Amino acid sequence: MLIPLLVALQLRAAVTAGSITLRTPTASQRVPLVADTSGPVLRPQMLAPLLPVTVVAVSPGHYRLDIAGASFALEIGVPSTTVAGQVRPLASGPIIREHQLFVPLQLISEVLPSVAPNLRWDGASRQLSISIGARATPDRPANPQKSRLIVVDAGHGGPDNGMTGPIGAPISIYEKDVTLAVAMRLGAELRSRGLRVLFTRTTDTLIALSDRGRIANQAGGDLFISIHVNAANMGWKEPAAARGFETYFLAEAKTEDARRVEQMENQSVRFETDTNIPKDDALSYILSDMKQNEHLRESSELAELIQEHLASVHPAPSRGVKQAGFRVLVTAFMPAVLVEVGFGTNAAEAKYLTDRRHQAEIASAVADAAQEYLKRYERRVTGGSGNGGARDER
Ligand SMILES: [Zn+2]
Repeated sequence: MLIPLLVALQLRAAVTAGSITLRTPTASQRVPLVADTSGPVLRPQMLAPLLPVTVVAVSPGHYRLDIAGASFALEIGVPSTTVAGQVRPLASGPIIREHQLFVPLQLISEVLPSVAPNLRWDGASRQLSISIGARATPDRPANPQKSRLIVVDAGHGGPDNGMTGPIGAPISIYEKDVTLAVAMRLGAELRSRGLRVLFTRTTDTLIALSDRGRIANQAGGDLFISIHVNAANMGWKEPAAARGFETYFLAEAKTEDARRVEQMENQSVRFETDTNIPKDDALSYILSDMKQNEHLRESSELAELIQEHLASVHPAPSRGVKQAGFRVLVTAFMPAVLVEVGFGTNAAEAKYLTDRRHQAEIASAVADAAQEYLKRYERRVTGGSGNGGARDER
């Protein structure tokens, strides 16, 4: 992990060119700019989730970029775009870097506000303000807590079984089955609490790790919860005895144990055949990382609450809140956590995790935690009006 990190740090110094701020009445996010010979450019997807963004490759070199209801036709290297039936000049042509589309800042600061009436650019503060109602879908009605969208992600699936266990007995637990059962139950619990839910999968199928985050971003998710089952390291003294639950948020892995879980969960990319996304895309990792950082505090608070609530139902000990670099969390630009609901390698815990009644208990506890988190979050954004209610200013 050390060498890629060093490269990453150097890359960061070389490519960043400041940032702009995206702001709604209740939230703000920073969007990093990248220096290009033609001027500052940015990845349009970085405007999500505050603005709905979709990038579609129409044909080689041609893209359609949808932002906040405006649709731009773009061609790589061509400094103009067609939007709302008009051809508009661009400061420079869109470019592809590290397999990602980048557009000139001027498209966002000048062209976009001219076609999206609810967006206003302030050059002095380098800030794009979104007034209420600017979202393409009116999903922020009077009672915002009711309308929050939780993305529920069942780990693994299809050819990727995840872990199997328990140690020293015939296989009785497949991680992918437990994660799906708990996730479906969690979704039902959240819906019964008036929240909206999007599942990354509802059947035994494989979804690429990077797609899970993308699905969440495109839907404008407010929270991302990924469910997994842990496996002991066979090198441990008594691997079959390891048990307990832990919740991760995205950051650099701090401990040996966190690195073990990170490596294990990131292995799912082995099953992915889609090569659109480079497996070790340092640049997009950094950019995602910078963006995700703004959700670090939120994510760690959600993780704390999940651990607290799980402790009230789970028979095994809490292993605490941890941090690691999970691919599935890297691409989700919202508070995002990964819950290891127990060790399938432990015989008693495998039995517990495959029991439908206990799966329901786990799901209910996680749903309680998410609901409590959202209540606190709403209080913060609607409470302190003196600071504009920005989520990063509490
Ligand atoms: Zn897993």
